[in-house]
Order: sequence, then C-alpha cells, then structure tokens
Amino acid sequence: MKVMVINCGSSSLKFKLFEMEKSNSVVAEGIVEEIGKEKSKFKYRSKSLKKDEEIIKEVEARDHTQAVGQVTKMLLDPKAGVFKDKIEVDAVGHRVVHGGEKFSKSALITKGVKEVISECFDIAPLHNPPNYSGIEACEAIMPGVPQVAVFDTAFHQTMPKAAYIYGLPYELYERYHIRKYGFHGTSHEYVAGKAAELLKKDIKNLKIITCHLGNGGSIAAVKNGQSVDTSMGMTPLEGLVMGTRTGDMDPAVVTFLMKKEHLSPDEMDNLMNKKSGLKGISGISNDLREIMAAAEQGNSRAKFAIDIYCYRITKYIGSYAAAMGGVDIIVFTGGIGENAANVREKVLAPLKFMGISVSDIKNKSKEKEKIISNGKVKVMVVPTNEELMIAMKTRYVVSESNNIYR
Ligand code: ADP
Repeated sequence: MKVMVINCGSSSLKFKLFEMEKSNSVVAEGIVEEIGKEKSKFKYRSKSLKKDEEIIKEVEARDHTQAVGQVTKMLLDPKAGVFKDKIEVDAVGHRVVHGGEKFSKSALITKGVKEVISECFDIAPLHNPPNYSGIEACEAIMPGVPQVAVFDTAFHQTMPKAAYIYGLPYELYERYHIRKYGFHGTSHEYVAGKAAELLKKDIKNLKIITCHLGNGGSIAAVKNGQSVDTSMGMTPLEGLVMGTRTGDMDPAVVTFLMKKEHLSPDEMDNLMNKKSGLKGISGISNDLREIMAAAEQGNSRAKFAIDIYCYRITKYIGSYAAAMGGVDIIVFTGGIGENAANVREKVLAPLKFMGISVSDIKNKSKEKEKIISNGKVKVMVVPTNEELMIAMKTRYVVSESNNIYR
C-alpha cells in the first residue's frame, strides 16, 4: 500500500510517499515552496535518484492544486519518478491542525468532515484554511483516492475538563468553544509510544512527559497512554517560549499593549506570534543555533533568551509531574529537543531532586535514540516522525472503512 502524506502551509506543500509494505520506507518526498508567486520552488528526492541527489527547480504553482499537480507530474517522470503510467497512490493522509472538539481520532474525509475542518477556520485561521486547500487539491488531482485527516488536536481530546477549561465565564466556552485544545498531538503520541516500546514497557502503566521542542514547542503529560494535559491552548500561542511566540504571560499585557502602542487585534496577534519568543527576546533570530552562537560570543540578550527558554520548560515538567502524581519517562524531541544537548542539560539541572542525573557522554553522543538519565525517572531522546505516524493512521482508517463498507 502506498500512502502519500501531505502537510500544507499557506504558501508551502510538503509531501512524503510511503511504501507501507516495505517497512514503511519513503519512496519519494519533497516540498513546493512560495506557492502563489510567479515562480515556485520545488525540491524533490526519490528512490529512483542517487542517494543524496536532490532535484531543485522552479515550477508554476499559483495555488495548492497546481502544486499537487507538479508533485504528481514529477512522480510520473521517466527518470526521477516512481510510477510508470499512472499515479498509484492508495490513500492520502493530510495533517490537519485543528479538529475542534469533534475529532478525537483521525477521520476518513467526507463532505461532513470537510465542513467541520472549515468550522475551525475561526480558531485556527493560519493553519486550517491551507490544510483544507490541500484536501481539495488532492481531490481534484487524484479523484477517487481515499483521503484521511489526521488532526494535531486529536490526541489531546482525552484531557479532563479541569485541564482544558479556562478561568473565563463558562458561557464563553459554550458559545465559542474557547478552551485548551493542544497541538503537536501526532508527535507527542508517536514519541510517547516509541519511548515505551524502546524500554519494553506497557504505555498503559506509564506516566510520560513529552517535550516537543522545535520552532514551535509544546509539552504533554501522557498518563497510561492518554494525554491528560498539554502546554499549547486554544491556539499554539500558549505555553512555552517558542521561536517567535510569547507562550504564557499575563493576559492583561495584551490589552495594555494594544492601548499603549495603538495596535489592532491583528497587529497584536502578529506581535505575539511572529515577533516574540526567542526572536523577540534575543533580538537576533528565532533559530536557536544562531542564538547559541551569539551567546558564545558574549551577547547577553542571547544568553538570557536561552535561560528564559529553558526555565519555562523546567517549570512545565515539574507541573506535569505534579499533575500526574509522578513521572516515569521524560522524552525530548523536535529540532531542539533532539539536537541541543546544552538545552537538555540546562532544563534538567534543577530536576536533580527527582533523581535525574544526566550522563554528559550520553547527552552529547551522536546516537539518535538514547537514554540520557537512567535512574527511576528515565530521560530519553526520541526523534519524532510525524509523517510516518500520519501514514500509519491513514492506512488504519482506510482499512477500517473498507471493513465497514464490505
Ligand atoms: P519546526 O517546528 O519548524 O519543524 P524543527 O523541529 O526543525 O522546527 O526545529 C527547529 C529548531 O531546531 C531551530 O530553532 C533550530 O535552531 C533547532 N536546531 C536544529 N538543529 C540544531 C542543533 N544541532 N543544535 C541546536 N539547535 C538545533
């Protein structure tokens, strides 16, 4: 079975084509960027090319449908393609950021499912519209191929009410569905499962804290295999200090700043989502590597940007250990979680009271999957693989629906 995984942003479309029967191997992958411009950039690799060969070319992709058209054209290319005469994709799995309260698992895409995805445009204005365009694009280019929506929010739908209701008048939750939803669910679920598997333990008996630290970042408390709390909220803005997002702060700051700086709601939104976090504090970049380089040169704002970033993560780990009444495993993943040994060290240093003692050699070793503290609480690094998880969920949903209709 060949499953294509699609992740659409407002001006980009990433895809990965998996051959599920051959140990989930990736047969082709790529990205179309700058969709909507006169010329878009297409980067592509496949098993038909040499190992490190990558095709980079300019293509026309005025919208997501044209972008999907460019992908299928490439997949049929006599040299670089992986299909001979026709596209033989058995299912398409879409990353959909917001599923609201309706989806606690992945869903076969129908008219009704599409309606719910579009109902969430209000609470996910940056993410759901392009995800929706990606679905329509695939329907147009690959008609008849089953499509599945895999929601970033679904894994967190098991959170108890005490964790997801905000301290606002309850009618506002009823009227607008304002509540914590949480994101990165596919990643948290994947690495929690993988960590349990690596330790040969049953996830149903474990308390796990998963730290997904990339450009965006979130932490989840996973008890007995279910998400019971997570740091992102109704939108991805809540929680950790991120590349460009504020994370938690006093909500009164919002109205104060809007008045003082004469900011419109959109301008305030932009400030909190795009100009804050590591970038806003350091004044250098949202990229941790650049901030670390500046800190090494003695740049004080870079130094305290890293301090603030790590402190917030430590606090969340502590609070989730309290929320679950303990913790067995802490997992680091994402670009920063997987690669930045100094961040892991700094985050974990205050947690000695939990018996955590980081092995410097393990922490700095090149191994991708590893245990860096091996006491009662295990601390692990586990690379995430959201695309594979989406492909596996897609295969499951499609085979289940075949069973239903047979
Ligand atoms: P996204 O959320 O966009 O998928 P990633 O998970 O790729 O982001 O993470 C991007 C972040 O990871 C950047 O801040 C980058 O600096 C950081 N990062 C990547 N590699 C390293 C590294 N070797 N050391 C430190 N930080 C790294």
